[in-house]
Amino acid sequence: MTTGRAQLRQPFLFVGNHPCLDFINTQMIVRGNPTDLLGGCEDLVAWLLQAHMVDKVQAAVVMTQWSHKDQEQLFEQGIRFRGTLREMTKRIVARKSIPHSAVEFINQVLSRCPGYPQLVYTKGGYTRQFQSQAAQKDGILVPLAEAASDLLCSGKLSLVKKCGNPSCILYFYDTTKNHARNWCSMQLCGNRIKVAAHYQRKRNMPTV
Ligand SMILES: [Zn+2]
Repeated sequence: MTTGRAQLRQPFLFVGNHPCLDFINTQMIVRGNPTDLLGGCEDLVAWLLQAHMVDKVQAAVVMTQWSHKDQEQLFEQGIRFRGTLREMTKRIVARKSIPHSAVEFINQVLSRCPGYPQLVYTKGGYTRQFQSQAAQKDGILVPLAEAASDLLCSGKLSLVKKCGNPSCILYFYDTTKNHARNWCSMQLCGNRIKVAAHYQRKRNMPTV
């Protein structure tokens, strides 16, 4: 199945602690180069699958039954949505107001799909999840719009942070106890910055 291949092909990052931020984080800097992990509809569907926003059946329907044109439209809409969410998140981090255009975009996606809430048991207890009837073309991005609205409604916006590495563009929702998380991940940025600071200190030490 094509979605399986895509799933294996792209190792997506899920370090954002929030699906909305993880989606934005599909744009990143790799060895100094701006890199987009979403190169087409197949990548977008693979991401949605890994983020549990579509199931395997829905993913297969998109990849095997949709026309090329419909796939392209979905991808184009997903990328536009990501741009809107990135802009919104930048403003959240800068403590600025949420752009009206972002709210409009989210509402527009939410309005398109019939669906129903379902009670789902997770590790932490019961939670309500929107079940979109996503075989319909407009429904695929609804869970993403749900995640974005969830961030705005119930998330503490002060906990939305950008990675402390100035040359990194990843965002995360800080759920640590003291809200002292600085890095997208220790492996990607934390260690690198600490090592750089260590050598900087060493270099500045007077020689005896
Ligand atoms: Zn980082």
